[in-house]
Amino acid sequence: MSDQYTFDDPRTRHPRISPPVQQQEEPGSQRAMDPAPDIGESSYRGTGRLTGRRALVTGADSGIGAAVAVAFAREGADVTMAYLPSEEEDADHVAALVEAAGRTVTRVPGDLRDAAYCRDLVARAVEAMGGLDAVVNVAGKQVWHERVEDIDDEEFEETFAVNVTAAFRIVKAALPHLPPGSTIVNTASAEAFQPAPDRLHYASTKAAVENLSKGLAQQLVERGIRVNVVAPGPTWTVLQVTGGVDPQTLPDFGASEAPLGRAGQPVEQAPAYVFLTSAESSFVVGATLHVNGGMPSP
Ligand code: NAD
Ligand code: MG
Repeated sequence: MSDQYTFDDPRTRHPRISPPVQQQEEPGSQRAMDPAPDIGESSYRGTGRLTGRRALVTGADSGIGAAVAVAFAREGADVTMAYLPSEEEDADHVAALVEAAGRTVTRVPGDLRDAAYCRDLVARAVEAMGGLDAVVNVAGKQVWHERVEDIDDEEFEETFAVNVTAAFRIVKAALPHLPPGSTIVNTASAEAFQPAPDRLHYASTKAAVENLSKGLAQQLVERGIRVNVVAPGPTWTVLQVTGGVDPQTLPDFGASEAPLGRAGQPVEQAPAYVFLTSAESSFVVGATLHVNGGMPSP
């Protein structure tokens, strides 16, 4: 069976998908997607790179966060999963994979727009895992609108609340618990550098994540805590079928944007998070790893 260490052609490692037009309500169900995203069930092999680590992963029920949770567990980390209460079914699948890897899984559903939940999430992660040394902010909200007038104020603010404010609050709550050697990985996007005109609020939150992370990295390095960023490009996840992009564009998803000629799969994002969390990246601080199939990046 092939995994991330199999030497092959990146253009054809994963299929060039052409998803049918489909639409779900936010936050959506990964199980209902056609085709199913690859979160690493049979394509990610762990080699002990995160042995004994204790990780908190937001957005861990589906997509990139789910691939991170599975990869971290297979690399030897215990995992606390954050996700919305309506996502229990997708979370069941991921939690079972974490347990099958022989690691503990702690599930803390809730809404990241709620400040009290952000604090409680960290407290419960620390209590359940006996500490915390890896924070991975993956949760995100993305809704497309053709015109700026179509974005109402509430949606604009909610996008910032989920994508930026929650990450800030989680980091602040986690800091008293994070020993030297701990890591924080935040999730930006190719949109932070090349904003699509139909995702103004989303793209600007991702630029904020990028900037916040660079500043934070400089501040926290003095405590031995490393902050880095992953900036994914077009990746096949439920975000894309819950209003993230114009549904009519789904059959062409990823193919035209990524020079590799296809959309990425969540499992292809996971190794970047593993690397930035592992001690093997000890001299990597305030960096952004662009995982986008070849879109020119700064
Ligand atoms: P996804 O829908 O599978 O994951 C997003 C998760 O965010 C949801 O599962 C949900 O648990 C969480 N979330 C959203 N609103 C929340 C709220 N109010 N409270 C708690 N949790 C909430 O999609 P994904 O593509 O895997 O997204 C993961 C991250 O990757 C996001 O930050 C997204 O912006 C980023 N990203 C994705 C792509 C892509 O092409 N898929 C590209 C660049 C960046
Ligand atoms: Mg989800």
